[in-house]
Amino acid sequence: MPAPSSARLTIDLDALAHNYAVLRDLAPGAEAAPVVKADGYGLGAVPVARRLWAEGARAFFVARLSEGEALRAELGHPATIYVLDGFTPDTGPRLAAANLTPVLCSRPQIEAASAFAAAEAMTAAIQVDTGMNRQGLTAAEIRDLAANPPRGLRVETIMSHLGSATDPADPRSAAQLDAFAGVRSLFPEARASFAASAGIALGHVYHFDIVRPGISLYGGGPEERPDARLKAVATFEAPILYVRQVGAGEMIGYGSKTIVEAESRVAVIAAGYADGLIRGTMGRSQAWFAGALRKVLIVTMDLIAIEIGEAEASPGDMVELLGSHVLLDDLAAAAGTVAHECLVRLGDRAERVYLGAR
Ligand SMILES: *Cc1c(COP(=O)(O)O)cnc(C)c1O
Repeated sequence: MPAPSSARLTIDLDALAHNYAVLRDLAPGAEAAPVVKADGYGLGAVPVARRLWAEGARAFFVARLSEGEALRAELGHPATIYVLDGFTPDTGPRLAAANLTPVLCSRPQIEAASAFAAAEAMTAAIQVDTGMNRQGLTAAEIRDLAANPPRGLRVETIMSHLGSATDPADPRSAAQLDAFAGVRSLFPEARASFAASAGIALGHVYHFDIVRPGISLYGGGPEERPDARLKAVATFEAPILYVRQVGAGEMIGYGSKTIVEAESRVAVIAAGYADGLIRGTMGRSQAWFAGALRKVLIVTMDLIAIEIGEAEASPGDMVELLGSHVLLDDLAAAAGTVAHECLVRLGDRAERVYLGAR
């Protein structure tokens, strides 16, 4: 068998379906609308959304208009597709042509959408800011909108987003919940949506009508306290190219930053930060090889070196750099970032393999 020469990203759609079921169980009574922005967190928005449609998902969230158009063109099912970026004066015809539901997030967006809807009826969601200060109408703006509803604009969903849900002890979540409860009643016909992955974990009062799971579908988080029921969806592996001996006190890699203390056996692997593996994990993360976790010594553009002790190793043997042994949340912690960033960086240089029904 020829040795594989390239890294491999395996996406387990059965694990994705399992995670979707876990999240739905956590939020009974709410519709779970998967977030598939950024090409399904780097794992493929179309295969992810198609499989989740088969599992019962009927609405999806993307960030960009172009993501919504691509998903509409290829999904092949009449799902609701929400576009988080909302509406600008020039995007109305494209949103309408692809039957996308914009999430209106500011007064200028409301004005542009209202002008468009006066000529061609439009369904939209409205995002309200309840304390995160990133996007969404202020309480005054949403009251004004409720008092003067624009003709032709049907507000189908009212939503907000939590800023500190990953810390269950942070009192700001409850304050945001109060603020949201206060404004959602202004639109009694609209459905309410508040919780992303971390919010789902906060419990029933945060769930409302629609939950928006993202990272937990893909096996991560909520940050720093991963839920043991979630399975790894992405596995990133790369083949060993060389096995070498590095003497005590010798350097490995650039800038003499990494000095091995004792004589070490090292495997050099065909993956690097050009494949989206974060350079900052150097010396801090682990890889899985021959039944054990191994220290990652260096991460360069195309090559990673790990310490392999006495393990038998040959060129072509695959090493797991992310997966069911090297957990997404642990990798994120080693990189000083969140699971979301680790996933979306996994580029397209690696070969992609999908497991499970698509
Ligand atoms: C990205 C995003 C989500 C999903 O967040 P996760 O932490 O990945 O679950 C939900 N809602 C909004 C508004 C988002 O921007």
